[in-house]
Amino acid sequence: MSYVITIDGPAGAGKSTAAKEVARRLGISYLDTGAIYRAVALILYESEVPAVDGYIMREALSKIRIELRNKSVFVNGFDVTGEIRTPMVDELASMYSAIPSVRKALLSLQKDQEKHGSFVAEGRDVGSVVFPDAEAKFFLTASPEARAKRRYSERVSKGKPADYDEILRAIIDRDKNDSTREVAPLTVPKNAVYVDTSDMTEEQAVQFILDKVKEVIPNEAK
Ligand code: C5P
Repeated sequence: MSYVITIDGPAGAGKSTAAKEVARRLGISYLDTGAIYRAVALILYESEVPAVDGYIMREALSKIRIELRNKSVFVNGFDVTGEIRTPMVDELASMYSAIPSVRKALLSLQKDQEKHGSFVAEGRDVGSVVFPDAEAKFFLTASPEARAKRRYSERVSKGKPADYDEILRAIIDRDKNDSTREVAPLTVPKNAVYVDTSDMTEEQAVQFILDKVKEVIPNEAK
């Protein structure tokens, strides 16, 4: 039997690290839905498609082909994996993902994953909209300050420029955008386990999720 685990939550709550590690330890796939929104936002922006719903947007979306191959994201055959991880694309993704036709266009791409066995999906609406019947659902969060601190350390450790106040401001803005949009806002999905990771290490968060998964899916997740 294949099963689906969803992990939703705001930026910097530790979703990606936890989702990847949980998937690795269970020997199942990992679906990064944020990467899909980022890739689409980048191509729409580069094609000068305004962030407004309507005919132009739907036309543009109909010409975009997104593929997830291993850990890479391709848009119309081009690898954009590196390009989508910038503060500018953080904002673009948040802006374009609020548009109903963008969300609609990306729904089937995400749902298709169910044809390929068990997986951990990570995003903002994977437990509420995309995979509402998932076997195990989690909502990971942490205080804005804890999340900003993590993002700050992450950037410093990669030798990238980092300004804590700027990162905190961007996190608060993005939370607001993601939670107040009309379609599929960031919300705690029904039946999701709420996990505040502010005072947890990455390993503690992973272990917590794995323990819960084992309660729900005892045979699969040994
Ligand atoms: O998770 P990540 O930071 O890569 O997501 C980038 C942006 O994409 C989010 O801020 C959010 O606006 C959007 N997103 C979304 N729904 C998802 C995943 C991401 O709206 N399932």
